[in-house]
Amino acid sequence: MPRYDFRCRSCGATFELRRPMAQANDPAVCPQGHEDTVKLLSTVAVTGAAAAGPQAPSAGGGGGCCGGGCCG
Ligand SMILES: [Zn+2]
Repeated sequence: MPRYDFRCRSCGATFELRRPMAQANDPAVCPQGHEDTVKLLSTVAVTGAAAAGPQAPSAGGGGGCCGGGCCG
């Protein structure tokens, strides 16, 4: 279940809740009982998101020369 971070604007406390995604935007109540809270950016780790991305073709490798050592 994803974890969501909230911050209380009444006392400044931050806290986290585990709740279904369907309730991600539901209001959360501070542990101190305050209801004036805001949801922070999710810190849920997404596997694979840290990858470097699709491999781009190496620059300059399409001419058949100066890319394979034939120039030097
Ligand atoms: Zn509070």
